[in-house]
Amino acid sequence: MKAIDIAKKVNSGEVSALEIITETLTGIKEKNPSLNAFLEVFEEDAIKRAKEIDTLPQNQKGKLAGVPIAIKDNILYEGHVCSCASKMLANYKAPYNATVVQKLLKEGAIIVGRTNMDEFAMGSSNENSAFGPVKNPLDLARVPGGSSGGSAAAVASGMVPVALGSDTGGSIRQPASFCGVVGIKPTYGSVSRYGLTAFASSADQIGPITNNIEDNELVLSVISGEDKNDSTSKPYPKNKEEKQNFTLGVPNDFLVNLELPTAEAFKQSIELFKSKGVQIKEVALPHAKFAAPCYHILTASEASSNLARFDGLRYGYNVKDAKDLEDTYLKNRSAFGPEVKRRIILGTFSLSSAHSGDFYLQAQKVRELIKQDFQKALKEVDAIIMPTTPNGAFKIGEVENILTLYLADLFTCPANMAGVPAITIPFGKDKNNMPLGLQICGNYFDENLLYKIAKLAEGE
Ligand code: GLN
Repeated sequence: MKAIDIAKKVNSGEVSALEIITETLTGIKEKNPSLNAFLEVFEEDAIKRAKEIDTLPQNQKGKLAGVPIAIKDNILYEGHVCSCASKMLANYKAPYNATVVQKLLKEGAIIVGRTNMDEFAMGSSNENSAFGPVKNPLDLARVPGGSSGGSAAAVASGMVPVALGSDTGGSIRQPASFCGVVGIKPTYGSVSRYGLTAFASSADQIGPITNNIEDNELVLSVISGEDKNDSTSKPYPKNKEEKQNFTLGVPNDFLVNLELPTAEAFKQSIELFKSKGVQIKEVALPHAKFAAPCYHILTASEASSNLARFDGLRYGYNVKDAKDLEDTYLKNRSAFGPEVKRRIILGTFSLSSAHSGDFYLQAQKVRELIKQDFQKALKEVDAIIMPTTPNGAFKIGEVENILTLYLADLFTCPANMAGVPAITIPFGKDKNNMPLGLQICGNYFDENLLYKIAKLAEGE
Protein backbone atom coordinates (compact mmCIF):
# COMPACT_ATOMS: atom_id res chain seq x y z
CA MET A 1 0.00 0.00 0.00
CA LYS A 2 1.16 3.55 -0.68
CA ALA A 3 2.26 5.56 2.37
CA ILE A 4 -0.32 8.19 1.52
CA ASP A 5 -3.12 5.56 1.59
CA ILE A 6 -1.88 4.00 4.82
CA ALA A 7 -2.01 7.42 6.49
CA LYS A 8 -5.50 8.06 5.14
CA LYS A 9 -6.85 4.70 6.26
CA VAL A 10 -5.23 4.81 9.68
CA ASN A 11 -6.56 8.32 10.19
CA SER A 12 -10.11 7.35 9.24
CA GLY A 13 -9.95 4.19 11.31
CA GLU A 14 -10.45 1.93 8.27
CA VAL A 15 -7.33 0.01 9.31
CA SER A 16 -5.38 0.17 12.53
CA ALA A 17 -1.73 1.08 12.79
CA LEU A 18 -1.29 -2.21 14.61
CA GLU A 19 -2.59 -4.18 11.62
CA ILE A 20 -0.22 -2.32 9.32
CA ILE A 21 2.78 -2.84 11.55
CA THR A 22 2.02 -6.52 12.17
CA GLU A 23 1.89 -7.15 8.46
CA THR A 24 5.08 -5.13 7.93
CA LEU A 25 6.99 -7.05 10.60
CA THR A 26 5.89 -10.38 9.09
CA GLY A 27 7.08 -9.24 5.67
CA ILE A 28 10.45 -8.17 7.04
CA LYS A 29 10.92 -11.53 8.81
CA GLU A 30 10.23 -13.30 5.58
CA LYS A 31 12.33 -11.18 3.23
CA ASN A 32 15.16 -9.66 5.20
CA PRO A 33 17.23 -12.82 5.82
CA SER A 34 18.00 -13.12 2.10
CA LEU A 35 18.48 -9.36 1.56
CA ASN A 36 20.33 -8.16 4.68
CA ALA A 37 18.73 -4.74 4.19
CA PHE A 38 17.85 -4.22 7.86
CA LEU A 39 20.59 -4.33 10.45
CA GLU A 40 18.00 -4.21 13.21
CA VAL A 41 14.24 -4.23 13.41
CA PHE A 42 12.72 -2.30 16.31
CA GLU A 43 9.88 -4.77 16.69
CA GLU A 44 8.69 -4.16 20.24
CA ASP A 45 9.06 -0.46 19.91
CA ALA A 46 7.15 -0.37 16.63
CA ILE A 47 4.24 -2.36 18.08
CA LYS A 48 4.10 -0.07 21.09
CA ARG A 49 4.01 3.00 18.87
CA ALA A 50 1.32 1.53 16.66
CA LYS A 51 -0.87 0.95 19.70
CA GLU A 52 -0.31 4.52 20.84
CA ILE A 53 -1.25 5.88 17.43
CA ASP A 54 -4.43 3.79 17.48
CA THR A 55 -5.53 5.52 20.68
CA LEU A 56 -5.35 9.00 19.08
CA PRO A 57 -8.58 10.63 17.90
CA GLN A 58 -9.67 9.98 14.31
CA ASN A 59 -8.10 12.26 11.69
CA GLN A 60 -5.65 13.65 14.21
CA LYS A 61 -3.01 10.97 13.94
CA GLY A 62 -0.71 12.90 11.64
CA LYS A 63 0.19 13.12 7.96
CA LEU A 64 2.09 9.83 8.17
CA ALA A 65 -0.17 8.01 10.62
CA GLY A 66 0.87 4.39 10.93
CA VAL A 67 3.34 4.57 8.02
CA PRO A 68 6.24 2.15 8.64
CA ILE A 69 9.52 3.91 7.87
CA ALA A 70 13.05 2.54 7.87
CA ILE A 71 16.00 4.82 8.58
CA LYS A 72 19.54 4.53 7.34
CA ASP A 73 21.91 3.46 10.07
CA ASN A 74 23.59 6.88 10.23
CA ILE A 75 20.46 8.71 11.49
CA LEU A 76 19.94 8.98 15.25
CA TYR A 77 16.85 7.48 16.87
CA GLU A 78 17.02 7.99 20.61
CA GLY A 79 17.86 4.90 22.63
CA HIS A 80 18.57 2.80 19.55
CA VAL A 81 21.89 1.69 18.13
CA CYS A 82 23.22 3.85 15.28
CA SER A 83 26.31 2.07 13.95
CA CYS A 84 26.91 3.61 10.51
CA ALA A 85 27.44 -0.05 9.55
CA SER A 86 30.83 0.18 11.23
CA LYS A 87 32.55 -1.92 13.84
CA MET A 88 33.65 1.44 15.26
CA LEU A 89 30.11 2.29 16.39
CA ALA A 90 28.65 -1.22 16.65
CA ASN A 91 27.29 -0.55 20.15
CA TYR A 92 26.72 3.18 20.00
CA LYS A 93 23.28 4.19 21.21
CA ALA A 94 21.74 7.42 19.98
CA PRO A 95 21.38 9.91 22.86
CA TYR A 96 18.76 12.01 21.05
CA ASN A 97 16.52 12.02 17.98
CA ALA A 98 17.67 13.45 14.68
CA THR A 99 15.41 16.33 13.63
CA VAL A 100 14.05 14.24 10.75
CA VAL A 101 13.13 11.45 13.19
CA GLN A 102 11.44 13.92 15.50
CA LYS A 103 9.42 15.26 12.58
CA LEU A 104 8.42 11.81 11.36
CA LEU A 105 7.32 10.75 14.83
CA LYS A 106 5.30 13.93 15.28
CA GLU A 107 3.34 13.06 12.14
CA GLY A 108 2.51 9.55 13.33
CA ALA A 109 5.14 7.55 11.44
CA ILE A 110 6.54 4.36 12.93
CA ILE A 111 10.29 3.84 12.73
CA VAL A 112 10.58 0.10 12.15
CA GLY A 113 14.31 -0.38 11.94
CA ARG A 114 17.71 0.77 10.77
CA THR A 115 19.03 -0.15 7.37
CA ASN A 116 22.38 -1.44 6.23
CA MET A 117 24.73 0.88 4.33
CA ASP A 118 28.30 1.29 3.20
CA GLU A 119 30.38 2.05 6.27
CA PHE A 120 30.02 5.75 7.15
CA ALA A 121 28.17 6.22 3.84
CA MET A 122 31.31 5.64 1.78
CA GLY A 123 30.60 3.44 -1.19
CA SER A 124 28.41 2.70 -4.17
CA SER A 125 27.55 -0.96 -3.70
CA ASN A 126 26.93 -1.65 -0.02
CA GLU A 127 29.85 -4.04 -0.08
CA ASN A 128 31.62 -1.75 2.40
CA SER A 129 29.30 -2.54 5.31
CA ALA A 130 31.00 -4.15 8.30
CA PHE A 131 27.89 -6.31 8.59
CA GLY A 132 27.81 -7.92 5.17
CA PRO A 133 26.56 -6.77 1.79
CA VAL A 134 22.93 -6.04 0.93
CA LYS A 135 21.41 -7.96 -2.00
CA ASN A 136 19.41 -6.31 -4.75
CA PRO A 137 15.82 -7.56 -4.36
CA LEU A 138 15.45 -7.74 -8.15
CA ASP A 139 18.45 -10.06 -8.50
CA LEU A 140 20.07 -11.43 -5.38
CA ALA A 141 23.43 -11.84 -7.13
CA ARG A 142 23.62 -8.08 -7.70
CA VAL A 143 24.37 -5.08 -5.49
CA PRO A 144 21.59 -2.68 -4.53
CA GLY A 145 23.91 0.31 -4.96
CA GLY A 146 25.15 2.43 -2.12
CA SER A 147 25.61 3.84 0.24
CA SER A 148 21.88 3.81 1.14
CA GLY A 149 21.54 0.32 -0.35
CA GLY A 150 19.68 -1.10 2.64
CA SER A 151 17.09 1.66 2.43
CA ALA A 152 16.60 1.22 -1.32
CA ALA A 153 16.36 -2.58 -1.00
CA ALA A 154 13.91 -2.29 1.91
CA VAL A 155 11.58 -0.18 -0.24
CA ALA A 156 12.06 -2.08 -3.52
CA SER A 157 11.31 -5.41 -1.84
CA GLY A 158 8.10 -4.02 -0.39
CA MET A 159 9.24 -4.48 3.21
CA VAL A 160 8.46 -0.81 3.91
CA PRO A 161 6.84 1.91 1.79
CA VAL A 162 9.37 4.56 2.86
CA ALA A 163 13.00 4.65 3.93
CA LEU A 164 15.30 7.56 4.62
CA GLY A 165 18.72 7.66 3.06
CA SER A 166 21.52 10.19 2.96
CA ASP A 167 23.20 11.47 -0.17
CA THR A 168 26.64 13.09 -0.27
CA GLY A 169 27.54 12.23 -3.84
CA GLY A 170 24.70 10.01 -4.98
CA SER A 171 23.95 7.68 -2.09
CA ILE A 172 20.17 8.06 -2.34
CA ARG A 173 19.84 8.33 -6.12
CA GLN A 174 22.28 5.64 -7.23
CA PRO A 175 20.80 2.84 -5.05
CA ALA A 176 17.26 4.02 -5.79
CA SER A 177 18.10 3.75 -9.48
CA PHE A 178 19.72 0.29 -9.09
CA CYS A 179 16.64 -0.98 -7.25
CA GLY A 180 14.03 0.67 -9.47
CA VAL A 181 12.54 3.08 -6.94
CA VAL A 182 12.20 6.85 -6.45
CA GLY A 183 14.76 8.85 -4.47
CA ILE A 184 15.46 12.52 -3.99
CA LYS A 185 18.48 14.44 -2.81
CA PRO A 186 16.89 17.66 -1.64
CA THR A 187 18.46 21.12 -1.90
CA TYR A 188 21.42 21.40 0.45
CA GLY A 189 20.04 23.00 3.61
CA SER A 190 16.40 22.11 3.06
CA VAL A 191 16.45 19.08 5.39
CA SER A 192 18.16 19.38 8.76
CA ARG A 193 21.34 17.35 9.22
CA TYR A 194 21.02 17.46 13.00
CA GLY A 195 21.42 13.88 14.15
CA LEU A 196 22.85 12.65 10.85
CA THR A 197 26.34 11.24 11.43
CA ALA A 198 28.49 13.47 9.25
CA PHE A 199 30.46 12.13 6.33
CA ALA A 200 31.08 15.38 4.45
CA SER A 201 29.04 18.14 6.04
CA SER A 202 29.07 20.51 3.07
CA ALA A 203 27.37 17.93 0.85
CA ASP A 204 25.40 15.51 3.10
CA GLN A 205 21.62 15.63 2.75
CA ILE A 206 18.90 13.33 4.05
CA GLY A 207 16.07 12.40 1.69
CA PRO A 208 13.28 9.88 1.20
CA ILE A 209 13.30 6.72 -0.91
CA THR A 210 9.83 5.51 -1.91
CA ASN A 211 7.98 3.41 -4.49
CA ASN A 212 6.25 6.38 -6.07
CA ILE A 213 6.56 10.13 -6.43
CA GLU A 214 3.49 11.07 -4.40
CA ASP A 215 4.82 9.32 -1.29
CA ASN A 216 8.21 10.92 -1.80
CA GLU A 217 6.66 14.35 -1.92
CA LEU A 218 4.64 13.69 1.22
CA VAL A 219 7.63 12.53 3.25
CA LEU A 220 9.84 15.39 2.08
CA SER A 221 7.14 17.87 3.08
CA VAL A 222 7.30 16.42 6.60
CA ILE A 223 11.08 16.25 7.07
CA SER A 224 12.15 19.51 5.41
CA GLY A 225 12.32 22.97 6.96
CA GLU A 226 14.61 25.26 8.88
CA ASP A 227 16.06 23.92 12.12
CA LYS A 228 17.84 25.96 14.76
CA ASN A 229 20.07 22.94 15.42
CA ASP A 230 21.50 23.01 11.89
CA SER A 231 22.97 26.38 10.98
CA THR A 232 23.04 25.43 7.29
CA SER A 233 19.32 24.71 7.16
CA LYS A 234 16.94 27.09 5.43
CA PRO A 235 13.17 27.35 5.00
CA TYR A 236 11.61 26.85 1.59
CA PRO A 237 10.94 30.24 0.02
CA LYS A 238 7.22 31.01 0.00
CA ASN A 239 5.14 31.71 -3.10
CA LYS A 240 7.31 29.98 -5.64
CA GLU A 241 5.81 30.46 -9.03
CA GLU A 242 3.75 27.42 -10.20
CA LYS A 243 4.82 26.57 -13.72
CA GLN A 244 2.68 24.70 -16.20
CA ASN A 245 5.01 24.52 -19.21
CA PHE A 246 8.53 23.31 -18.80
CA THR A 247 11.78 23.52 -20.65
CA LEU A 248 14.27 20.80 -19.86
CA GLY A 249 17.98 21.02 -20.49
CA VAL A 250 20.15 18.22 -21.82
CA PRO A 251 23.87 18.65 -21.07
CA ASN A 252 25.27 16.90 -24.13
CA ASP A 253 28.80 18.10 -23.38
CA PHE A 254 28.71 16.12 -20.13
CA LEU A 255 26.94 13.04 -21.46
CA VAL A 256 29.62 11.85 -23.85
CA ASN A 257 30.32 8.12 -24.25
CA LEU A 258 27.02 6.95 -22.79
CA GLU A 259 26.77 3.20 -23.14
CA LEU A 260 24.00 1.75 -25.21
CA PRO A 261 21.11 0.67 -23.01
CA THR A 262 21.59 3.81 -20.92
CA ALA A 263 21.86 6.07 -23.98
CA GLU A 264 18.78 4.46 -25.51
CA ALA A 265 16.70 4.79 -22.35
CA PHE A 266 17.75 8.40 -21.98
CA LYS A 267 16.79 9.13 -25.58
CA GLN A 268 13.39 7.59 -24.96
CA SER A 269 12.86 9.79 -21.93
CA ILE A 270 13.56 12.86 -24.06
CA GLU A 271 11.02 11.65 -26.64
CA LEU A 272 8.48 11.05 -23.92
CA PHE A 273 8.89 14.56 -22.51
CA LYS A 274 8.58 16.02 -26.01
CA SER A 275 5.37 14.06 -26.57
CA LYS A 276 4.00 15.68 -23.40
CA GLY A 277 4.68 19.16 -24.70
CA VAL A 278 7.93 19.76 -22.85
CA GLN A 279 10.54 21.86 -24.62
CA ILE A 280 13.99 20.30 -24.80
CA LYS A 281 17.06 22.49 -25.08
CA GLU A 282 20.75 21.74 -25.06
CA VAL A 283 22.63 23.25 -22.12
CA ALA A 284 26.31 23.30 -21.22
CA LEU A 285 27.80 22.01 -17.97
CA PRO A 286 31.45 22.36 -18.92
CA HIS A 287 32.83 21.63 -15.46
CA ALA A 288 30.51 18.77 -14.51
CA LYS A 289 33.06 16.26 -15.73
CA PHE A 290 35.30 17.35 -12.89
CA ALA A 291 32.61 16.82 -10.27
CA ALA A 292 33.64 13.26 -9.33
CA PRO A 293 37.32 14.02 -8.65
CA CYS A 294 36.37 17.31 -7.00
CA TYR A 295 33.83 15.46 -4.85
CA HIS A 296 36.36 12.85 -3.76
CA ILE A 297 38.95 15.40 -2.69
CA LEU A 298 36.49 17.58 -0.79
CA THR A 299 34.48 14.84 0.87
CA ALA A 300 37.56 12.85 1.88
CA SER A 301 39.00 16.03 3.40
CA GLU A 302 35.85 16.72 5.37
CA ALA A 303 35.56 13.06 6.38
CA SER A 304 39.11 13.02 7.71
CA SER A 305 38.13 15.84 10.04
CA ASN A 306 34.60 14.59 10.88
CA LEU A 307 35.80 11.08 11.67
CA ALA A 308 38.71 12.19 13.88
CA ARG A 309 36.46 11.93 16.94
CA PHE A 310 36.09 8.18 16.47
CA ASP A 311 39.19 7.20 18.35
CA GLY A 312 37.68 5.12 21.13
CA LEU A 313 38.50 7.84 23.64
CA ARG A 314 35.80 10.29 22.67
CA TYR A 315 33.58 7.98 20.64
CA GLY A 316 33.74 4.48 19.31
CA TYR A 317 35.55 1.21 19.63
CA ASN A 318 37.99 1.07 22.52
CA VAL A 319 40.41 -1.79 23.13
CA LYS A 320 41.34 -2.33 26.73
CA ASP A 321 44.84 -3.78 26.27
CA ALA A 322 46.69 -0.89 24.58
CA LYS A 323 50.20 -0.21 25.93
CA ASP A 324 50.37 3.52 25.39
CA LEU A 325 48.69 6.37 23.53
CA GLU A 326 50.06 5.46 20.11
CA ASP A 327 49.05 1.85 20.57
CA THR A 328 45.58 3.00 21.68
CA TYR A 329 45.14 5.00 18.49
CA LEU A 330 46.53 2.24 16.30
CA LYS A 331 44.27 -0.40 17.77
CA ASN A 332 41.12 1.69 18.17
CA ARG A 333 41.28 3.29 14.74
CA SER A 334 41.79 -0.13 13.15
CA ALA A 335 38.08 -0.72 13.75
CA PHE A 336 37.46 1.24 10.53
CA GLY A 337 37.15 -0.78 7.34
CA PRO A 338 39.52 -0.34 4.37
CA GLU A 339 37.43 2.18 2.41
CA VAL A 340 37.00 4.49 5.40
CA LYS A 341 40.73 4.30 6.10
CA ARG A 342 41.50 5.08 2.47
CA ARG A 343 39.33 8.19 2.55
CA ILE A 344 40.77 9.40 5.85
CA ILE A 345 44.29 9.03 4.46
CA LEU A 346 43.36 10.75 1.19
CA GLY A 347 41.62 13.54 3.08
CA THR A 348 44.42 14.09 5.56
CA PHE A 349 46.87 14.27 2.67
CA SER A 350 44.69 16.72 0.72
CA LEU A 351 44.42 18.98 3.75
CA SER A 352 48.06 18.84 4.76
CA SER A 353 49.85 22.18 4.59
CA ALA A 354 52.22 20.95 1.90
CA HIS A 355 49.45 19.85 -0.45
CA SER A 356 46.23 21.67 0.35
CA GLY A 357 46.92 24.31 -2.32
CA ASP A 358 47.12 21.62 -4.99
CA PHE A 359 44.17 19.58 -3.87
CA TYR A 360 41.68 20.90 -1.31
CA LEU A 361 41.80 24.56 -2.35
CA GLN A 362 41.86 23.67 -6.01
CA ALA A 363 38.82 21.44 -5.59
CA GLN A 364 36.97 24.27 -3.80
CA LYS A 365 37.51 26.46 -6.85
CA VAL A 366 36.29 23.74 -9.19
CA ARG A 367 33.21 23.32 -7.01
CA GLU A 368 32.44 27.00 -7.48
CA LEU A 369 32.70 26.60 -11.25
CA ILE A 370 30.32 23.63 -11.16
CA LYS A 371 27.85 25.74 -9.18
CA GLN A 372 28.11 28.53 -11.71
CA ASP A 373 27.51 26.06 -14.57
CA PHE A 374 24.24 25.01 -12.97
CA GLN A 375 23.19 28.59 -12.27
CA LYS A 376 23.84 29.58 -15.83
CA ALA A 377 22.09 26.57 -17.33
CA LEU A 378 19.12 26.92 -14.99
CA LYS A 379 18.56 30.45 -16.21
CA GLU A 380 17.80 29.00 -19.63
CA VAL A 381 15.80 25.93 -18.60
CA ASP A 382 13.61 24.83 -15.68
CA ALA A 383 15.50 21.65 -14.92
CA ILE A 384 18.26 19.49 -16.34
CA ILE A 385 17.85 15.81 -17.18
CA MET A 386 20.45 13.08 -17.41
CA PRO A 387 20.78 9.39 -16.60
CA THR A 388 21.18 8.71 -12.88
CA THR A 389 24.03 6.25 -13.38
CA PRO A 390 26.18 5.18 -16.32
CA ASN A 391 24.99 1.53 -15.95
CA GLY A 392 22.58 -0.66 -14.02
CA ALA A 393 23.36 -2.80 -10.95
CA PHE A 394 26.50 -4.92 -11.21
CA LYS A 395 27.15 -8.27 -9.54
CA ILE A 396 28.37 -8.50 -5.96
CA GLY A 397 32.17 -8.77 -6.11
CA GLU A 398 32.26 -7.89 -9.82
CA VAL A 399 33.81 -4.42 -9.60
CA GLU A 400 37.16 -4.58 -7.86
CA ASN A 401 38.72 -1.42 -9.15
CA ILE A 402 38.08 1.42 -6.72
CA LEU A 403 38.15 4.06 -9.44
CA THR A 404 35.51 2.21 -11.46
CA LEU A 405 33.34 2.16 -8.34
CA TYR A 406 33.90 5.87 -7.82
CA LEU A 407 32.61 6.48 -11.34
CA ALA A 408 29.20 5.03 -10.44
CA ASP A 409 28.59 8.55 -9.11
CA LEU A 410 29.69 10.35 -12.24
CA PHE A 411 26.21 11.78 -12.90
CA THR A 412 25.08 12.20 -9.31
CA CYS A 413 28.04 14.12 -7.81
CA PRO A 414 27.48 17.38 -9.73
CA ALA A 415 24.20 18.11 -7.89
CA ASN A 416 25.92 17.66 -4.53
CA MET A 417 28.79 19.91 -5.52
CA ALA A 418 26.31 22.58 -6.65
CA GLY A 419 23.91 21.98 -3.72
CA VAL A 420 20.91 21.75 -6.05
CA PRO A 421 18.11 19.18 -5.69
CA ALA A 422 17.95 16.08 -7.88
CA ILE A 423 15.43 13.27 -8.12
CA THR A 424 15.71 9.85 -9.71
CA ILE A 425 12.80 7.84 -11.05
CA PRO A 426 12.97 4.42 -12.70
CA PHE A 427 13.19 4.70 -16.46
CA GLY A 428 14.26 1.90 -18.82
CA LYS A 429 16.25 -1.30 -18.35
CA ASP A 430 19.87 -2.30 -18.84
CA LYS A 431 21.08 -5.35 -20.76
CA ASN A 432 20.42 -7.60 -17.76
CA ASN A 433 16.88 -6.33 -17.44
CA MET A 434 17.84 -4.38 -14.33
CA PRO A 435 16.30 -0.92 -13.85
CA LEU A 436 17.93 2.31 -14.99
CA GLY A 437 17.11 5.73 -13.59
CA LEU A 438 16.30 9.11 -15.02
CA GLN A 439 17.68 12.02 -13.02
CA ILE A 440 16.11 15.48 -12.95
CA CYS A 441 18.15 18.28 -11.36
CA GLY A 442 16.57 21.61 -10.55
CA ASN A 443 17.35 24.96 -9.06
CA TYR A 444 17.63 25.54 -5.31
CA PHE A 445 14.34 24.75 -3.51
CA ASP A 446 12.65 23.68 -6.75
CA GLU A 447 11.68 20.24 -5.40
CA ASN A 448 8.00 20.77 -6.18
CA LEU A 449 8.83 21.50 -9.78
CA LEU A 450 11.02 18.36 -9.92
CA TYR A 451 8.14 16.25 -8.63
CA LYS A 452 5.81 17.75 -11.24
CA ILE A 453 8.22 17.05 -14.06
CA ALA A 454 8.97 13.56 -12.76
CA LYS A 455 5.26 12.73 -12.69
CA LEU A 456 5.14 13.25 -16.46
CA ALA A 457 7.48 10.29 -16.83
CA GLU A 458 6.33 8.14 -13.90
CA GLY A 459 5.48 4.56 -14.74
CA GLU A 460 6.66 4.87 -18.35
N1 GLN B 1 29.12 6.52 -3.67
C1 GLN B 1 29.67 7.77 -3.24
C2 GLN B 1 30.90 7.55 -2.42
O1 GLN B 1 31.42 6.49 -2.46
C3 GLN B 1 28.63 8.58 -2.59
C4 GLN B 1 28.45 8.33 -1.16
C5 GLN B 1 27.36 9.14 -0.57
O2 GLN B 1 26.63 9.85 -1.25
N2 GLN B 1 27.28 9.08 0.74
O3 GLN B 1 31.38 8.39 -1.77
